[in-house]
Amino acid sequence: MKVSRKMQTLAASLALATAATALLPVSPSYAAAPQVRAQAPGYYRMMLGQFEVTAVSDGTVKVPLDKLLNGEEPQQIRRLLEDGFQKPDQAETSINTFLINTGGKLLLVDSGAGKLFGANVAGRLQQNLRAAGYRPEDIDAVLLTHVHLDHSGGLSMAGKRLFPNADIYLSQKEADFWLNPANKAKVEGPRPSGFDQRKGFDQAQASLVPYLAAGKVKTFEPGVELFPGIRAIATPGHTPGHVFYEASSDGARMQFWGDAVHAQQAQFAHPEIAIDFDVDSASAIEQRHKAFADAAAHGYWVAAAHISFPGIGHVRNDTRAFAWEPANYSLERLN
Ligand SMILES: [Zn+2]
Repeated sequence: MKVSRKMQTLAASLALATAATALLPVSPSYAAAPQVRAQAPGYYRMMLGQFEVTAVSDGTVKVPLDKLLNGEEPQQIRRLLEDGFQKPDQAETSINTFLINTGGKLLLVDSGAGKLFGANVAGRLQQNLRAAGYRPEDIDAVLLTHVHLDHSGGLSMAGKRLFPNADIYLSQKEADFWLNPANKAKVEGPRPSGFDQRKGFDQAQASLVPYLAAGKVKTFEPGVELFPGIRAIATPGHTPGHVFYEASSDGARMQFWGDAVHAQQAQFAHPEIAIDFDVDSASAIEQRHKAFADAAAHGYWVAAAHISFPGIGHVRNDTRAFAWEPANYSLERLN
């Protein structure tokens, strides 16, 4: 076999390079720049007709979905979560809030958890709101889907209103339920997962009393238009006065779902899977079915508190029941 001159040269230079490497002094290697290890500010924006909608992240919380979810065999639930690349016992779950700037009013759907999960868990709404170009004092109204701590905990801190100019809207039924401690007797005590619904009553007081004292709490019956293009839809089950909000502008429509979904990896394929956080699981399941079927049939936008941030997308029919289609990332949907 004849070895070409070119090959001989290549072999010689490789041998030289290897020898040179062997002679280099051993030294620690450094990356070119320090790693940053921080996420971008959590907001995502789109126009909905004439309305500007901004998903604003309150951060995430890790929850043991394998213990909290029920309605299927535990093994099946674990498999669904794992197939969705979610850790069953430490499922990192988004807490999303949504700003609606109607042009006339600045509305915030839910307020995140505040510091109620501890100092370093969630509680990022205030900073992300500012990053998104708004100040807490700009908000005219906070629309609560329900009163659970991850939706109302961010309203107040140590008895002080964090949205000083905002009225707080919630359904009459929801206010009546959580603001009456006698109702503690109507909910279950601690579940095997450790979740205790009764704690919600004291938390509801802590979040809402500063606004009640200032005459800033407005209750409503679902169905009526609360602001031009904004109405509430009764969806009782997860909590007795749980509502969706619907925003409509120029023929575009978005529903804000609060807690219709906690585990997207499991519940779109199996809407019958419920969570210990439900006050009435059977009704919550019924509402979830209805919501999925209606959204899939009509194709409107959906914005959900615990679907992976920004939690905006569409529902479609699927061989396994339903599926979630996250919004295609867009820089164009701002006009
Ligand atoms: Zn929630």
